Amino acid sequence: MRIFDPHIHMTSRTTDDYTRMAAASVRAVVEPSFWLGQPRSNPGSFIDYFDSLIGWEPYRAAQFGISHHATIALNPKEAGDPRCRPVLDLLPRYLEKDRVVAVGEIGYDSMTPEEDSAFELQLALAEDHGLPALVHTPHRDKARGTRRTLDVVAAAGIAPEKVAVDHLNEVTVGLVHDSGCWMGFSIYPETKMSPPRMVDILRRYGLDRMLVNSAADWGISDPLLTVETAKAMLAAGFTVDDVDRVLWRNPVAFYGLSGRLDLDVGAPDATHEGNSVLRGGE
Ligand SMILES: [Zn+2]
Repeated sequence: MRIFDPHIHMTSRTTDDYTRMAAASVRAVVEPSFWLGQPRSNPGSFIDYFDSLIGWEPYRAAQFGISHHATIALNPKEAGDPRCRPVLDLLPRYLEKDRVVAVGEIGYDSMTPEEDSAFELQLALAEDHGLPALVHTPHRDKARGTRRTLDVVAAAGIAPEKVAVDHLNEVTVGLVHDSGCWMGFSIYPETKMSPPRMVDILRRYGLDRMLVNSAADWGISDPLLTVETAKAMLAAGFTVDDVDRVLWRNPVAFYGLSGRLDLDVGAPDATHEGNSVLRGGE
């Protein structure tokens, strides 16, 4: 088995998580930029965060044989904060970087006019830079937020096959399925979506354009729920090839639209000087 987690916030995870993920066949991850829990007060905080997403974090992942890429954006939770808006002007330089494979997470949190404008502007940036877009759907009022998201995507003129709409559930999957966009699902231990519910959705809607992630961050989450979903698929009668399609080939196809996926990290290098850092040197 090989697993590609297309949405996981490794910045908030420890090396124990990387060890467990590598042991459980997670070979590739994409880390979308998002908020950091506490609101950021200036654009400089984003510069350091973005730099770590394309520098330090891929290096850290590679020590465990895991390929790491990022998506870059001004996230919906901070898009309405006037202190953060200048981040929009910083994005073009990051969208040219080798390990940036999409614009994201963009979309709605509270569905304000400020979020509207940031969303539209960043969909246009995705088009300008030849990148796909990763769209977060709000956790409150999800059906209305998803409908509005799809309206904005359609109005922007970006091809639906270049857009993934994430954090879906049984209520919203049908809308996105019909739109032609990719469908993302975040599997959580307690809330939102579980492996058995995910298997039911795959049975009903098929495997095309399906992306399954663990979204693991600082909240109660588990970076191995992609693997648990794979096991639940097999137990439900899906084939090994079906699992490979949903949990490897689909994310490769979606982020491959960037032309920048590099899945070859080579063997973890035990002699590399940086390893001592990860092993608790300083
Ligand atoms: Zn996220």
